[in-house]
Amino acid sequence: MELFEYSAYELSKMLQRKKTSSEELVRSYLKRIELINPRVNAYITATPALALDTAQSVDNKRIRGEELHPLAGIPVAVKDNISTAGIKTTCASRILEHYIPPYDATVVKALNRAGMPVLGKTNLDEFAMGSSTENSAFFPTRNPWDLEKVPGGSSGGSAAAVASGMAPLALGSDTGGSIRQPAALCGVTGLRPTYGRVSRYGLVAFASSLDQVGTLALSARDTALLLNLVAGPDPHDSTSLPDRDRDYIDNLTAGVENLRVGVIKQNVADSFDREVTAAVLKAASLLESNGARVEEVSLPMIDYGLSAYYLIAPSEASSNLGRYDGVRYGYFAPGKDISEMFCRTRGEGFGPEVKRRIMIGTYALSAGYYDAYYLQAMKVRTMIRREYEEVFKRYDILIGAASPTPAFKLGEKTSDPLQMYLSDVCNITDSLAGVPSLAIPGGFHSSGLPMGLQLTAAPQSERLLLQVACFFEQHPETKPRRPELDFIESPPEEGGM
Ligand code: GLN
Repeated sequence: MELFEYSAYELSKMLQRKKTSSEELVRSYLKRIELINPRVNAYITATPALALDTAQSVDNKRIRGEELHPLAGIPVAVKDNISTAGIKTTCASRILEHYIPPYDATVVKALNRAGMPVLGKTNLDEFAMGSSTENSAFFPTRNPWDLEKVPGGSSGGSAAAVASGMAPLALGSDTGGSIRQPAALCGVTGLRPTYGRVSRYGLVAFASSLDQVGTLALSARDTALLLNLVAGPDPHDSTSLPDRDRDYIDNLTAGVENLRVGVIKQNVADSFDREVTAAVLKAASLLESNGARVEEVSLPMIDYGLSAYYLIAPSEASSNLGRYDGVRYGYFAPGKDISEMFCRTRGEGFGPEVKRRIMIGTYALSAGYYDAYYLQAMKVRTMIRREYEEVFKRYDILIGAASPTPAFKLGEKTSDPLQMYLSDVCNITDSLAGVPSLAIPGGFHSSGLPMGLQLTAAPQSERLLLQVACFFEQHPETKPRRPELDFIESPPEEGGM
């Protein structure tokens, strides 16, 4: 077995037993990136020198017998909307193409403190707006299961990197599905934690009341390891939650007996791919035959989630993106007066989807329309929250599809924003409710592509989600698997990094 085939947990054990070194690990991942990234385009920026530096310093500490974090020496990839001091953080946008942040995000500080070598920054839809990573201003990422398909988005780079063995772990961000949908399309485990569980300090803001940093990994155990490191309160983020449940590992193997499980009717809809729906129902019966109490549950507010999200998120985005004016940092285009300078800077710096969101958001917030759109959407959000509160009095876990279909073709939805928005229909209400939500492998479609299940629980129930995920991993049909990369032999195409 090659090093990239092991889970982060196994690699951590190997490092602790000195069966390998962090330097050896990093070198093997860098080789893998060199081989695969030209075809998959998961990374915008690779940081080999920095990763090797960190690895060597961790190896030296280990030799000296210093006490190390369990993830010390394990490489990691970081989505390119998470600030890294001294390393370009582009948000896959022309407006930040050359931007080098002067500070690290709190989560990046945690990676550094633990001694995790950062392999590079991964591709995304511009400012995390999108569901296919095709809105990147630089290049689309491809799905390692089928290079003609999208990896999902917006954390498509992180999901594709983990799926193809270009990183054992990755950080992503999820506003309305951006970790879970790509995880589903790439066959990996993607966690959106409870809103506030992980600090957002240094995550470039898209829609602040929804944005959440989370993880992409190969298994529940690897997810728990990384969550243990990045979760927790942060004085720099006033919305971060107080400490609680800090060990996400200790009840992973507790099983599913007596759990009250609700199969979300709206997330096994007739309009979904039939095999996806069948996979969810099969997973539900697996829970039942192992002692869980399973029922169908209807969450009628889900039908309003997408409309509310696509008013609230653009409204917040229109305000958050006001800061890109070319004055202090980022892309700058001169003009004869200040107004022309702003117009040119923003006109040339932002891509079409970002402009669309800014326009929708500005409209929804404008005097005369505020009550009809933004305020109405906020009322819907409150009703969604209440519906979740009620449902979690009766169920411990909700299960549904993580995406209505497996990965779709590159270019298939780029000319129809509404179709693109619809690909998050399973993920969005969990985001609006602020609850933790986990996408896990749910078997394979007849096309050979992975399908994802989504597990949802009450706020701060990440341990329960991971426990159920761990249960599914023990079963042959829902066991995580890696794609065969038969394209490795052939020469890469032009373009990309
Ligand atoms: N695809 C959704 C959107 O375009 C969600 C993106 C995200 O979660 N960052 O807004």
